[in-house]
Amino acid sequence: MSAPQGIAILGATGSVGKSTLDLIKRHPDRFRAVALTAFRSSDALLSLCLQHKPRVAVLAGHAEDAGIRRAFRQAGCTSELLFGAEALEGVAQARDADMVMAAIVGAAGLASTLAAARAGKRVLLANKEALVMAGALFMRAVADSGATLLPIDSEHNAVFQCMPQEGANGARRATDSIRRILLTASGGPFRTTALDRLATVTPDEACAHPKWVMGRKISVDSATMMNKGLEVIEARWLFDIDPAKIEVVVHPQSIVHSLIEYRDGSVIAQLSNPDMRVPIAHALAFPERIESGVSALDLGALGQLTFEPPDLARFPCLSLARRALAAGGTAPALLNAANEVAVDAFLDGRLPFTAIPGVIAAVLDAVAVGPADSLERLLDADAKARARARADIAAVLERAA
Ligand code: NAD
Ligand code: MG
Repeated sequence: MSAPQGIAILGATGSVGKSTLDLIKRHPDRFRAVALTAFRSSDALLSLCLQHKPRVAVLAGHAEDAGIRRAFRQAGCTSELLFGAEALEGVAQARDADMVMAAIVGAAGLASTLAAARAGKRVLLANKEALVMAGALFMRAVADSGATLLPIDSEHNAVFQCMPQEGANGARRATDSIRRILLTASGGPFRTTALDRLATVTPDEACAHPKWVMGRKISVDSATMMNKGLEVIEARWLFDIDPAKIEVVVHPQSIVHSLIEYRDGSVIAQLSNPDMRVPIAHALAFPERIESGVSALDLGALGQLTFEPPDLARFPCLSLARRALAAGGTAPALLNAANEVAVDAFLDGRLPFTAIPGVIAAVLDAVAVGPADSLERLLDADAKARARARADIAAVLERAA
């Protein structure tokens, strides 16, 4: 039997990272973790290192720290420990990493995810923000290097599974035979909340997703439906498809993960219980299939699957994302950065939930859009949008005081 495939997990301590490690543990003959990274949670990273024994571990949010290094050594950790964000790009390109799971949240994951794509890796993409920011640049890097890109986002993984089956390469393309891609959305925790209640919802309420357990940033994005807006942009790039052919349908049960409608009227869907181990197992083993540990779907017990159009008045972030996609260039990077700053402020209790879309719209109105043809330009747009969003939030708070 061939040696297990090496996997670098960027963002190993997060929700997607942990689900990936669960699958690696279930299939030690197929996969082994060669690199694990975290932001600042050194205890969580240490405990994962003791369990999975990667060759290298990275703490991206710490500068060299003798105390942490000593703690790792005293605990018997044999992994090489690296500090700082620059180390992420190194592990994303490492020779023993056959696959890279890109599971850092937000723009912080862009440079390392792009480095993995440029190095021709098999890239398992959870970090949708990287593709939202850098769409064309990222897809060009994948094509130039011969990397294989496999979507982890459950909707995009579902679409990928419903695509025509010819060709085993990850980069499947929409063809003329596709009439529409239908991305499903749960509608989040506030789908039916009285509109006059939304201004006072708390971060914990926003993060209490009815169907998925996820990190806090994506949970808030699901509550505003910016997550679906980001996913429309993600689908546009992954499948090289006209945005007009990407539709969103609200499906509160989160069983149908997305659908493709073909020109003859056939609609193909992918269904499973809502557990990220399904798309992760699919991408890890593709084109084979492996056990994921996820329970079987019991349609009789579910009884009903329902669908409804999204309420664009309740969820203005959906339209903001479409606006940024249509504007092109650095506009999606501006949208993403403004959203990250606004969500952060909401999670910190500084900004009301209902003020999030206004902050994003103000950034799109104020910051000039330029070409998105290099990482430097994208990071510059990201920084400008963040500065503008922070100023806008300060003004909102001043008015409220
Ligand atoms: P999370 O918050 O649970 O974990 C994020 C990980 O990134 C952690 O390991 C953290 O240490 C690391 N990280 C955070 N900030 C960092 C920084 N500045 N530099 C380096 N590392 C940093 O997030 P998650 O829910 O696992 O989501 C990860 C990504 O996957 C996001 O882009 C999200 O949109 C996407 N995604 C998640 C789910 C899900 O079910 N959780 C589903 C689909 C897509
Ligand atoms: Mg998703």
